[in-house]
Amino acid sequence: MRIRDHLSHAGEPAFRFHQLITAWQASTAETFAEVDALPKRLRDQLAEQFGPRLHPLTALEVQRDEHVEKVLFSSDSGARIETVVSHYRAGWDSMCVSSQAGCGLGCTFCATGAVGLIRNLSADEIVAQVMHPRWTRAGLARPASVAFMGMGEALANPHVFDALTLLTDREYAGMSARRVTVSTVGFAPSLERLVNQHPQVTITLSVHSPFSTQRRQIIPLEERFPLARNLDILDRHTAVSRRKVYLAYLLIAGVNDGDDHLAALAELVRERSRPELFHVSVIRYNEAAGAAPEYRAPSSNRVDEFVHGLTARGIHATRRRQLGSGIDAACGQLHAKYLAGRAPGAAPIATLIPVSPASR
Ligand code: SF4
Repeated sequence: MRIRDHLSHAGEPAFRFHQLITAWQASTAETFAEVDALPKRLRDQLAEQFGPRLHPLTALEVQRDEHVEKVLFSSDSGARIETVVSHYRAGWDSMCVSSQAGCGLGCTFCATGAVGLIRNLSADEIVAQVMHPRWTRAGLARPASVAFMGMGEALANPHVFDALTLLTDREYAGMSARRVTVSTVGFAPSLERLVNQHPQVTITLSVHSPFSTQRRQIIPLEERFPLARNLDILDRHTAVSRRKVYLAYLLIAGVNDGDDHLAALAELVRERSRPELFHVSVIRYNEAAGAAPEYRAPSSNRVDEFVHGLTARGIHATRRRQLGSGIDAACGQLHAKYLAGRAPGAAPIATLIPVSPASR
């Protein structure tokens, strides 16, 4: 956005910005100097004004299996960010992006929560995960969908709103808002802002327990912003937008997979003003991904039973498909495998390693 403003103030014709974005999207250019479509004087001017690089991320490492590709990016500011692309059999790709380095919300099933918040990623750092020329170099088209399901609570980072604007700006990333999913554990004030400012964005709200006391133990944010408040927001949103919303339910053996949970969850959905617009995604907990050693994965059968139990009660529910176990990297939860540079005054350096399963 700053570049567009700069070009406009400098009296450059509007097509210059288009040339720059087209080059960024369709080529492997990493620096302004490589954008041949622009005259040299403008390339030099932009490099002088904004630094030589087109975006703040450098791809450091790639891991891939049949279904998933994950890239470790290093940000100019020191953060290390992993971005995951899942290839679906139907022939389309979905990308999972991070919104924060670490996370301060402390969900007990999530290793990222155990790390604490290092910092919010900037809008540039978020968008660059999607637009990076590394994908073009790898022969990948722009992903069909982008999910804010990586490391961090997206709605706790105000820069996410700028990132959403850039991703859905027709002159920038040009994605359909419906193809962008924001996942939240229930940061209610920002959820309210999201449904007002970006009503077409797809929303996934993590439930993980229909019982407030227990949910507080799994998602401490329940204390500040109870599930009921978040569901009220979604009730108003579905009534106005008629958009489908998703409720994520991470199934943990012996914790939240009982028949009483199933019945209460079904009731919670049935109570909605437009229950037909609520879809429950049931996710199997992955011990390797979690922070709490006492949490266990339920059997695969129990996950299926839980889903069937919901559908038998008239609730739209499916089991979320989890890709990438081969490289420990599926969209939905990023795991802080290690973090460095957290000493006071040190440049923050976070290495964010995604792990399966998707849990939010
Ligand atoms: S689940 Fe999300 S909000 Fe909770 S600690 Fe992990 S990253 Fe943060």
